[in-house]
Amino acid sequence: KVRVRFAPSPTGPLHMGGVRTALFNYLFAKKHNGDFLLRIEDTDQTRYVLGAEDYIVEALKWCGIKIDEGATIGGEYGPYRQSERKPMYREYADKLIASKDAYYAFDTPEELDSIRKKYEEEKKTFTYNHQTRDNLNNSLSLSHEEVQGKIDAGVAYVIRFKMPIGEELHLNDEIRGHVVFNTSTLDDKVLFKSDGMPTYHLANVVDDYLMKISHVIRGEEWLPSMPLHVLLYKKLGWEADMPKFAHLPLILKPVGKGKLSKRDGDKLGFPVFPLKWTDPKSQEISSGYREEGYFPEAFINMLAFLGWNPGTEQEIFSMEELAQVFSLERVGKSGSKFDPEKTKWYNRQYLMKKSDDEIGTLFAEQILKEKDITANPEIVNRVCGMVKDRVDFISELWDQVNFFFEAPEEYDAKSLKKGWKEDTPDLMSELASILEGIEEFTSENSEAIIKEWITSKEIGFGKVMNPFRLAMVGAGKGPHMFDIIEILGKNETISRLNYAIE
Ligand code: GLU
Repeated sequence: KVRVRFAPSPTGPLHMGGVRTALFNYLFAKKHNGDFLLRIEDTDQTRYVLGAEDYIVEALKWCGIKIDEGATIGGEYGPYRQSERKPMYREYADKLIASKDAYYAFDTPEELDSIRKKYEEEKKTFTYNHQTRDNLNNSLSLSHEEVQGKIDAGVAYVIRFKMPIGEELHLNDEIRGHVVFNTSTLDDKVLFKSDGMPTYHLANVVDDYLMKISHVIRGEEWLPSMPLHVLLYKKLGWEADMPKFAHLPLILKPVGKGKLSKRDGDKLGFPVFPLKWTDPKSQEISSGYREEGYFPEAFINMLAFLGWNPGTEQEIFSMEELAQVFSLERVGKSGSKFDPEKTKWYNRQYLMKKSDDEIGTLFAEQILKEKDITANPEIVNRVCGMVKDRVDFISELWDQVNFFFEAPEEYDAKSLKKGWKEDTPDLMSELASILEGIEEFTSENSEAIIKEWITSKEIGFGKVMNPFRLAMVGAGKGPHMFDIIEILGKNETISRLNYAIE
């Protein structure tokens, strides 16, 4: 059975790349009728950020990524927070010590720092590996008695993996294909820390095994850890149950080179987080797609195309459709550029797909909340329908339709200068009295009557229509004039004309 996990560390808000990893895991699970798990990897207590887990859960919910099993909802293989699984890991570290695939290391952080410094002075970098380990303060260089003595005396230690020397590992990545690592190039990672917690590497492998994970789908930054993880499966005797690995390509900056970073967003004017985030320490605020008015469907659709493509021309996919067509074979090897403009484009596609009533409802909620305006739903829906193809976001509608709800008090200076002439007030009064006489105040009717009047006066249409628009809208914009006045109604139309004449 396909079982995949999204395993974030609660070290801050989930960014776009993290959501993409969650999404691809989710789509893969749904495609294969499998389970999508949420596991919180909080073994590094020093990097724990308050509120991060809640943020992750809320972000997944907003995106429509449903958890089948995991932190916050539980399941057969829980608990799903590594801090709550603490007692489970030690036995595996001990097992590796017993088989001599791991060892105790007593080097204090200060000792390691001074060694590092010494190396730096010689313009070298220090690595804890097969070349250095025999001379360091660990159970490989100390006698059995010395080691036991230290442990009995309560000297702090970590447990490190003893990376084999000179083994060529031929591994398979579901996206990259065949990858080769030589173990001599790898260091002896810490598996178990002096605080009694496992590190990411040990906890991740143990949990994937115990939770019966079938596929590990994660960011490219974890590819270098793959050989260590594979070796851990082997040394723990779990090779037959080892999951398949797939490392997702990077998401790149929209301009320039390199990976999209958490810092890029607010610098370049687009969010990199799904939801707004206030840093609990610095109180610094980062913007989020939700608060910027993006539809979650648009955000997800955009993310799906960062690294994956369906192999057809189709660009618009619902979550269900994505789950039907998604495959790891169609995930690319190279990084894909994030495009904020395309993201807006997606939002617009989803906006246009909505009915006038749906858009109207969203808009009504917004103007009630932000402007305290309660408007007739029928009118709201209608005016939203008139201008929806001019905007990317619900929040942009107000600028397009505000004049339906508030009479203009000031007029756009440029249009005023251009359209308001000496004879305009007289023309506008005459227009007002003609409008007054129209029985059936519909768009078509008033259009026919006004046009006939303008023609009979042998003046240009602009001479009437430009100031007329200015009086109704306050600027030289907006939909068809006669549609506007039908919605405003006869009284309001005439009152705005009178206000403008004064
Ligand atoms: N906790 C790791 C992270 O934050 C998970 C990596 C993995 O999926 O193995 O990215």
